[in-house]
Amino acid sequence: MRILVTGGAGFLGSHLCDRLIEQGHDVICLDNFFTGSKKNVEHLIGKHSFELVRHDITQPILLEVDRIYNLACPASPVHYQYNPVKTIKTSLLGAVNMLGLAKRVRARILQASTSEIYGDPTVHPQIEEYWGNVNPIGIRSCYDEGKRVAETLFMDYHRQNKVDIRIVRIFNTYGPRMHPNDGRVVSNFIVQALQNKDITVYGDGSQTRSFCFASDLVEAILRMMEQSEIGPINIGNSGEFTILELAEKVIKLTSSKSKIVKEPLPSDDPKQRKPDISKAKKFLNWEPKVNLEEGLVQTIEYFKKISYATAPK
Ligand code: NAD
Ligand code: UDP
Repeated sequence: MRILVTGGAGFLGSHLCDRLIEQGHDVICLDNFFTGSKKNVEHLIGKHSFELVRHDITQPILLEVDRIYNLACPASPVHYQYNPVKTIKTSLLGAVNMLGLAKRVRARILQASTSEIYGDPTVHPQIEEYWGNVNPIGIRSCYDEGKRVAETLFMDYHRQNKVDIRIVRIFNTYGPRMHPNDGRVVSNFIVQALQNKDITVYGDGSQTRSFCFASDLVEAILRMMEQSEIGPINIGNSGEFTILELAEKVIKLTSSKSKIVKEPLPSDDPKQRKPDISKAKKFLNWEPKVNLEEGLVQTIEYFKKISYATAPK
């Protein structure tokens, strides 16, 4: 098939491009390189089945494709809050443009939604039927509300125009190819630990997250695209850890001399998060294979090999 991956030069998008090329598809990787990098896909450049296009999904584009994976959107709070108006335009106008394209060329389209649409959840673990607890005017809203309106657009294009959609709600995912300055917790802690710098725990570290390894995540979204349930379906690892536990694990696995320091908790930071993955198990016959410790070891090995000074952007 001819497959479009928006945000294909990002952390998850580049792993997805790898798998699709391995499966024998023709892949168009579209990215504006805001948080992604050519470095993530440089090993694919030159393959006849791979094309890299610099494009911003807030602008329309016409391509003949059979499948669209819509991943373009900065995902780390630091980066999505850098230009919040652009972030919400990426989710909103990007969804309109990609759904319009899917409608026109009759492609199936998958949206990379997020656990953030549940906000600071009052239902735990989060089930897909939960409508969430999102602050519409806070500093995370540009991302949370953008992703929520994108889900609305996907459902309405489906109901109104019969566009063939899939929606996955991705919970915190980590792994090789995260940028050293990504700003999310796993990469921050590993980069700090490897340099014996202070580990920055925001708040008292009692907030929880569930961490999914990139290879597990990509397997789930590939399965989601090629089965009939439209979703939304939660994808994540149901192991739940406090941020303090994560810091201690990273220090142990890197044999670091780093000390944990406490920094202010950003506003609207969700207190707890853990996916109910019953639907993913039922419809995708999927569950994560890589536990946190194994995934951290692989991610630490990746960060040991890259030079922070010469890392792209
Ligand atoms: P990432 O920042 O590495 O990747 C996002 C990619 O989108 C980057 O390559 C970036 O340059 C590109 N991009 C951003 N705005 C664009 C625009 N307007 N036009 C074209 N390209 C644009 O982040 P990631 O972790 O790989 O996330 C990929 C997708 O998965 C995002 O949509 C994100 O919201 C979603 N997601 C990720 C996680 C996670 O934990 N990794 C969790 C929930 C949802
Ligand atoms: N966090 C932290 N130190 C950091 C980066 C993040 O304590 O250096 C915390 C953050 O406050 C949040 C959790 O780790 O409670 C996960 O943050 P991340 O930005 O990775 O993802 P999200 O908040 O979007 O789940």
